[in-house]
Amino acid sequence: MTDVVREYRVGGQTVRALDGVTLSLAGGNFISIVGPSGAGKSTFLHLLGALDAPDSGSIRFGDKEIAQLTDEQQSEFRRHQVGFIFQFFNLLPTMSAWENVAIPKLLDGVGLRKAKPDALALLDKVGLAKRANHRPAEMSGGEMQRVAVARALMMDPPLILADEPTGNLDSKTGASILELLAEVAHDKGSGRAVVMVTHNQDAAASTDRVVTLQDGRLRSDEFTGAARKIG
Ligand code: ADP
Ligand code: ADP
Repeated sequence: MTDVVREYRVGGQTVRALDGVTLSLAGGNFISIVGPSGAGKSTFLHLLGALDAPDSGSIRFGDKEIAQLTDEQQSEFRRHQVGFIFQFFNLLPTMSAWENVAIPKLLDGVGLRKAKPDALALLDKVGLAKRANHRPAEMSGGEMQRVAVARALMMDPPLILADEPTGNLDSKTGASILELLAEVAHDKGSGRAVVMVTHNQDAAASTDRVVTLQDGRLRSDEFTGAARKIG
């Protein structure tokens, strides 16, 4: 991201949600985005995920300038290069755990039956092999978030964006989800970046890098050394 500006016009006023942010993110890292409410964290995450576009500045992913992609290419980028994880899990209530994990494949035109082996393998990876046939209502919050992590990995994207993934979990369950996200980022050879917006200082401190936004600007950017502690 180079010198990224995103403004919102509300009534006659202009709010600069992001005000000249320059930042470079590398795969293999678990990165947290922190800062007070209104600092620009959600805007930042939406721009990274190509859900929104900057007013000026550049957002490059590999050799691609995201804003220069067509709508269709951006949609393709979201489906294949990004996995999204949410505070309230966003699982489909009528589908089982494995079917929820398979959804990204369905959106890609792959049939459920064909997607099943990969979905089951991912559920196993997040420690939920035994819940494959359970619906969301039959699972705990921590289990639902594990399903969501598995779903985010379905297309094997290089970028995972998590918006307050522990915000609706008790601290012990939240810590286990953070461990899982760290594993996802540190997976040998995956080169995957996990970017998490969080209000929780302890959650942020467990990540490799803490980026602090304030009033739409980059206030600090610190590598914590937590990666070595986690292993
Ligand atoms: P955070 O996620 O850190 O709370 P946001 O990115 O949501 O911050 O918001 C940054 C600023 O942009 C805030 O002042 C917010 O009110 C404003 N903002 C965010 N989204 C919109 C929108 N859709 N319309 C108008 N203003 C917005
Ligand atoms: P299409 O254009 O192919 O119908 P979209 O571009 O709307 O699909 O969405 C592609 C992917 O981007 C979705 O599968 C979803 O994971 C993600 N996505 C789309 N909109 C949002 C959103 N508002 N918040 C989070 N993720 C989204």
